[in-house]
Amino acid sequence: MIDTHAHLSDETAFPDLESVVTSSRRKGVTGIYTISVDAADTYRCLSIARRFRDIHPAAGVHPHQAAAYDRSELISALKKTSAFFAVGEIGLDYYYNFASRDTQRKVFQDQLQIADDFYLPVIIHCRDAHSDLLDILHSRGRRDNGGVIHCFTGNLDEARELMKLGFALSFGGMLTFSNAKAIRDVFRQLPYNRMVFETDSPYLAPVPHRGKRNEPGYIRYVFQRAAEILNLTFDDAVRINRSNTARIFDTHPSGAADTCFFKFAGIWHLNVSNVKTSDLTFNGINTSTDYGGYELKLKRSYSADEYLSKSAKIPHSERNLLFIRSYGEPLMEADKLSMILRELKINHWQNIILTTTGYTGAHHEALTFLKKIAGYIDGIEILFSDNSYTHLIHSHDSFAIKCMESFSYLMKRFVYPDVTARNQRICDQLTEKFHLPCCAISQTLRR
Ligand SMILES: [Zn+2]
Ligand SMILES: [Zn+2]
Repeated sequence: MIDTHAHLSDETAFPDLESVVTSSRRKGVTGIYTISVDAADTYRCLSIARRFRDIHPAAGVHPHQAAAYDRSELISALKKTSAFFAVGEIGLDYYYNFASRDTQRKVFQDQLQIADDFYLPVIIHCRDAHSDLLDILHSRGRRDNGGVIHCFTGNLDEARELMKLGFALSFGGMLTFSNAKAIRDVFRQLPYNRMVFETDSPYLAPVPHRGKRNEPGYIRYVFQRAAEILNLTFDDAVRINRSNTARIFDTHPSGAADTCFFKFAGIWHLNVSNVKTSDLTFNGINTSTDYGGYELKLKRSYSADEYLSKSAKIPHSERNLLFIRSYGEPLMEADKLSMILRELKINHWQNIILTTTGYTGAHHEALTFLKKIAGYIDGIEILFSDNSYTHLIHSHDSFAIKCMESFSYLMKRFVYPDVTARNQRICDQLTEKFHLPCCAISQTLRR
């Protein structure tokens, strides 16, 4: 388990730092990101990171301390060592207003520039200032890896804007608070590859320690609650956090597991193809190849035998459901896939659901492909973005017509409940077009 945000340098809160770290490790914490609030704190974070190999330091000045900001101090710290994984925490706090809003904005913007200069992501603190935050970030444009908005408390629109600007959102103890339904409602709707988890120790301790001193070991309660809300397993939540943290902060190898056959949300997935039929991003948000904390892009091509030997190790009790889910389009590997599927069916896999991008028509043999595997699959999940669908349904070029032929075949061959689409509006249009029932994509199938 990784805690992406703690203030271990707070000497008043952690006079017993050694034992806090030891006890966190004993509870399964393998990495702690300790965040700075001012110039002196930056060096305290650094010295803690030097004492403990699994702690990483950030450098930066909190909006509370904005009045004491000195740009040359921050630059000299960043020049001194490459140990700092991010600039943070920086941002705006209009709840306490310890520094004037004007000063806060200037200091924030200056630190964003420094982060850019050092090619570092940022950790942003924002309280009661989301509209100014968005204005400032918008004025700087999208960053491929902006960093993290920690302890996110904004609404869904703000979350979407921030994700489009290249940020991930971080959640902590508040997920467990009974009066934080609004935060949970936003959290539930986010893509997995844009969420990380934190304690913000010593603050915001999760239930059942609410109101007491928080420590990184309590991150377990955050993962537990997050998994419940998302309908995932505890391990899924831990893995998603680990994978996102590695990608965003680039601080440790992601230790990417072999993903040709993997388990996510309690369901086995078979990953068969890297071949893309189009280069779509979903609303500009999901640009990574990560799926539930797994790297979906295969490192190499696997043979049918390799898939089958992996399947053979899976107990029969777990063979009730299998998703064919790939970075590319599985139908582009129809020959291999039909060989694998045939054996899987003989070996008692009960329900096999194929996930396709819906762009199968891009290949002139799409229908042949579909027919080749049709006998072995029990359902189809169509994953396509609003823009691709709109293109298909409204255009009359030969590409679109081919796509629609494939869709039409898919829809008629595999009906509800396993025909799904990304949102209700698309479902309604599909239903109208094909006179078939269709349901919006479920929680566990989100990309
Ligand atoms: Zn903060
Ligand atoms: Zn903090």
